[in-house]
Amino acid sequence: MAKVKHENLALTSAVSIASLATYNFYEGFNGNFLVEYEEEIIEALIKPKKTTALHYFLACFTDIGQEVDDMVENIDDIGDVYYYIKRILLEVNIDHNLPEPNFEECTDRYHEDCECREVIEKWIDFLNEKQDEINELLVHSSFQILFLDRKFLHDFHVELAEWVEYSYESLKGNYEKYLVGNKGFKRAAFPVWLKNAVYHRDKGCCVICRSDLSKIVNINGTHHIDHIVPLRKYGNNDSSNFQLLCETCNTSKGNRTTETNSINVPFWNMD
Ligand SMILES: [Zn+2]
Ligand SMILES: [Zn+2]
Repeated sequence: MAKVKHENLALTSAVSIASLATYNFYEGFNGNFLVEYEEEIIEALIKPKKTTALHYFLACFTDIGQEVDDMVENIDDIGDVYYYIKRILLEVNIDHNLPEPNFEECTDRYHEDCECREVIEKWIDFLNEKQDEINELLVHSSFQILFLDRKFLHDFHVELAEWVEYSYESLKGNYEKYLVGNKGFKRAAFPVWLKNAVYHRDKGCCVICRSDLSKIVNINGTHHIDHIVPLRKYGNNDSSNFQLLCETCNTSKGNRTTETNSINVPFWNMD
């Protein structure tokens, strides 16, 4: 299997996007993204994909082209737009050989009609040209943060389950072979990359009882990948709907509850 490459993650921008998305989710969730990306999302619910339903949700809060347009419109000093674009390109690690504006030589305070303005416009054009690629990298980065938050994933998938139940008749019309009668999605196989991701996110511990399943000291440490919102509660196979459980907790949770928690291993404790 191919190794996971190390790559730049735009964590600074990712935090803003995650914050905007979760704020909107909890303060009046609207399911517009489910309509906009319906087909892609259903595909992601049928079997685990690297682009998850959550990626499509995050995409609704990620529009770097629009952000820069708004800045140009509302800001006095266009120099700030240059600094912003420069920071974003560095964060997402996109190479360029754009010229640098020479602010020191310029006497036009807001760069309204000077050489630096022309230079900055080249930066804006470049960003617009690359905006799809940048947005994708920002969504990917933002996903890294929210994937850590099982409680949010739980709440997100409870919403999706309501949508699946609500639209079940039309779903049956088009996707019958992926469903178990009236009971929701069929179980799909877990790809290795997803097992690894869930194992590492949950740090090799059962999410519920906290037992160590790493097998380093306990050869019986069998771990199970559990659907946070169970399939029989109209949950789905989206890659963001899984957690690590021990055999006992998995058996007792089964298809009955959506139990998870926010217990994590911090970098250090405060006591
Ligand atoms: Zn200037
Ligand atoms: Zn357990």
